[in-house]
Amino acid sequence: MPEANKCRICFNETDNKSYSIREMQFGTREEFEYFECSHCGCLQIKSYPEDPGKYYPDDYGLHNVTKTGKPGKLIGWLREKKLKHVLDDKKSLTGFLLNLLIKPGFEQKLKPAGVKSDSSILDIGSGAGKILLNLRNKGFKDITGTDIFIDNDLIYDECLRIFKKELSEIEGPFDFIMMNHSLEHMPEQDEVFGHLRRLIKPGKMIMIRIPVKTDYIWDMFGIKWGSLDAPRHFYLHTQKSMEIIAARNKFSIEKVLFDSGSYQFYSSEQIIRDIPLRSANSYYMNKKSSLFSRSEIRGFVKKAEELNKNHQGDCACFYLKPL
Ligand SMILES: [Zn+2]
Repeated sequence: MPEANKCRICFNETDNKSYSIREMQFGTREEFEYFECSHCGCLQIKSYPEDPGKYYPDDYGLHNVTKTGKPGKLIGWLREKKLKHVLDDKKSLTGFLLNLLIKPGFEQKLKPAGVKSDSSILDIGSGAGKILLNLRNKGFKDITGTDIFIDNDLIYDECLRIFKKELSEIEGPFDFIMMNHSLEHMPEQDEVFGHLRRLIKPGKMIMIRIPVKTDYIWDMFGIKWGSLDAPRHFYLHTQKSMEIIAARNKFSIEKVLFDSGSYQFYSSEQIIRDIPLRSANSYYMNKKSSLFSRSEIRGFVKKAEELNKNHQGDCACFYLKPL
């Protein structure tokens, strides 16, 4: 059990402020105690729930993959051309044209990490592999996922396998590791960084995507901030708290790209009105019966883009390298 109100990121114990935060994804409205560190700004849960699995019901989204089949031969060939054009040094006219015609996908996020089409990829907290199936269909061939909350191992084919394993059971090393909105769900943050260090090849990069507690969003919504998602999110990092924990674990942060969207506004505005994320009249569940008009949502998207440029959006992508 962690000590009361001692920051588990920077270890500061003074002037940390407590908050009681409600579960508003499923709308149980159960309250959980959090505190905000006065030094690094990280908001964190006071004590971890005894049975965290109970807060990941079947409709949480861990299992929601629909199409698991591979694309046909021609489509697969074209996609691979595009992937190699974007990530490798293999420029081709076909790749160039496809890149113009098809809007940039998830592979764009991997480019700053120096990922190549033949890189071995590990995704920590992958669920059933929504993102990973997408990457396999784009032409990546060596993909591993891990998630303790899935029901069992999922071996899709020779290119993609997902294990129901603890991080300590995974063996590497990998050319690239990513965590897409999973770090905030994990109790022992330093331990996670230790495994990242063990599993990444020297000189290769790690990408961590998390919600970020920025001054703008915290001042605007406080405990009604949609991305808080109590009690599943144990840590709502700030850029400062990420710098502290990365440095302690001997990683340098090479780049930070903010990638927040309209979610930060509509989810929070709904909580202000006591509307849980998964209720029938939530924008997340049903755009048409939600509170928001299309132009309001467009306004949220525009505002998010502006905030991202100023490093104030509520989600970011951290690129780290072991020192
Ligand atoms: Zn702190």
